Amino acid sequence: MSNIEKIILASNNKHKISELKSILNGLSNVQLLSLEEANIFIDVEETGNTLNENAYLKASEIFNITGVPVIADDSGLFVEALDGEPGVYSSRYAGLNATYSDNCEKLISELKKKNLTESNAEFRTVICFMDDKNNEKYFEGIVKGKIITEQLGDKGFGYDPLFIPEGLDKTFAQLTDEEKNKLSHRANAVYKFTEFLKKLIQ
Ligand code: IMP
Repeated sequence: MSNIEKIILASNNKHKISELKSILNGLSNVQLLSLEEANIFIDVEETGNTLNENAYLKASEIFNITGVPVIADDSGLFVEALDGEPGVYSSRYAGLNATYSDNCEKLISELKKKNLTESNAEFRTVICFMDDKNNEKYFEGIVKGKIITEQLGDKGFGYDPLFIPEGLDKTFAQLTDEEKNKLSHRANAVYKFTEFLKKLIQ
């Protein structure tokens, strides 16, 4: 049993913070703080070669500064026809300062180079949790689906306009936040994390 009151989410991404906060809302008593809310103004470099490594790098750097329990996540889109690209490099697929739209365009063009109009794909998230009781735990969430070469919808972020989750005929960008949060890779990983956290704090 552990009396965790606060967890810092090692991210500056506003979209991610609001998504995670809404998924984690059910957990009373534990307050989720963004880096800004914790008065930490750094951007940890994602120099790892895997999602696990990047999640670890972010969690450990913030934990070493604060000593407060931290979660950090790293996600990516893995496209079958592109041998798993863009994967861990999803945020900079079209270059270091690429926008979401640049990355979507690059993905469409890579598929078109192969004369494809779609490919199986999956989003993966890894969450790393670290605390002062020597816990260092990893939680993985996956959502399978396909990538298409036409952008549909204007909600969400990143590759959402190109990704159709299995069992639906809409892209992530055509779903409401609530709908996406029920089935996203992040929701999956967060669910596993919250199950762990509930046991830890009970
Ligand atoms: P991050 O590690 O969560 O920041 O994700 C890295 C990159 O993967 C983002 O910049 C997006 O391009 C992509 N990505 C991650 N999660 C999603 C999602 O839920 N929808 C669309 N793109 C995503």
